Amino acid sequence: MVQVSNVEAAPEAMRSGPPDDGGAGVEVLAARDVPLGGPRALLVRRTLPQRARTLIGAWCFADHYGPVRVPSSGGMDMPPHPHTGLQTVSWLFSGEIEHRDSLGSHAFIRPGEMNLMTGGGGIAHSEVSTPDTEVLHGVQLWVALPEADRGAGRDFQHYAPEPVRLDGAEIRVFLGSLAGSTAPVRTFTPLLGAQIDLEPHAAVTLDVDPGFEHGLLVDAGDIRLDGKVIRPAELGYAARGAKSLALVNDSDAPARTILLGGPPFEEEIVMWWNFIARSHDEIVRAREDWEAGSDRFGVVEGYPGRRLPAPPLPNAVILPRRNPPARERADEPVVRRVDAERLYEIAIDGARAGLTAYRDRGDQRIFYHTEVDKAFARKGLASTLVERALIDARAAGKRIVPVCPYVARFVKKHPEFADAVDKATPQVLQWLEAELGA
Ligand code: MN
Repeated sequence: MVQVSNVEAAPEAMRSGPPDDGGAGVEVLAARDVPLGGPRALLVRRTLPQRARTLIGAWCFADHYGPVRVPSSGGMDMPPHPHTGLQTVSWLFSGEIEHRDSLGSHAFIRPGEMNLMTGGGGIAHSEVSTPDTEVLHGVQLWVALPEADRGAGRDFQHYAPEPVRLDGAEIRVFLGSLAGSTAPVRTFTPLLGAQIDLEPHAAVTLDVDPGFEHGLLVDAGDIRLDGKVIRPAELGYAARGAKSLALVNDSDAPARTILLGGPPFEEEIVMWWNFIARSHDEIVRAREDWEAGSDRFGVVEGYPGRRLPAPPLPNAVILPRRNPPARERADEPVVRRVDAERLYEIAIDGARAGLTAYRDRGDQRIFYHTEVDKAFARKGLASTLVERALIDARAAGKRIVPVCPYVARFVKKHPEFADAVDKATPQVLQWLEAELGA
């Protein structure tokens, strides 16, 4: 259903995002409006790809549309068009779309039912909202195929997940696993895709794979994701490393979100129109093949009209896209270990704003003092600092010994560190006193 991709030049914005409660690790990606189709275009809100982020896991494209009243807007009418190198995920909140593809599939996309189309080497499909549709509302998502599978054959899978409930949330897992629910759908890289509905003021903590990065697309409601406020049509990005995600619905009304995840996709991709490739030349070839009516894409039967011609190529080489290197933004706090001083510091704009000091005793790392500069009246700084320090210590094979009262409270509140914590015994305290006195 996409006519334009990275050839557009609409402005994009990143919101720094008050009023938040911490949320230092979450980045807010704003949507931009893109018209799809002809004169009665369907306006979609696109959050992926954008300058600040190309992919989340292998998710490389996220369009969010509606609710639109179809009788007045005309709804969706996407004539047969080609795809390469990807899977498309269609997911509706409301309405119905008739799907036809060159594999021979003829299916109806309905709310709560996922349709996953694979078009590695080449596929074509059409999508039309049905005459009975009053309100059209949903998302269209793409998954980039990894190098080894990007020639995968045509495929079409349908799956309607059984909703599961957890702490005021209703969760429909259409790809991957979450909250004890696993989708029996094959993907080429590990992925998570789920609709999460939250009752008014619901708060839910979801265990997630720390090897995944995540994106939370908010459809309705003001959601705090790990403390950061994400508003409707925004995508909250959480880098990998988290073992859980906390979602809070701050609204007096029910909220609806889509959670996407996967391990970071390290390959560069070239995206243009409906094609995903690895080079400009591959894009040129795919376009020529489509225009020539090549067997590569097959034929869509039953669509009442002509297929969609490819737009002209830009007068420039289409450059590969990849995620920006994992660097911290200037206003985000950075936590690092300073070996020479035997402490972890948290810095904002390069200036130290807090520290937690330690001494190593064999395989034990004894945390004995934490302080945060009062000038940085930013919430969550101490907990960000201590959490990163403890993750680093554990990753280095150290046992964590909390002597500092703040660290002791932190590990009590975060049982996920329990298996790495040793008690501060009298011997430890005695050793520490001698060490610090020296
Ligand atoms: Mn399509």
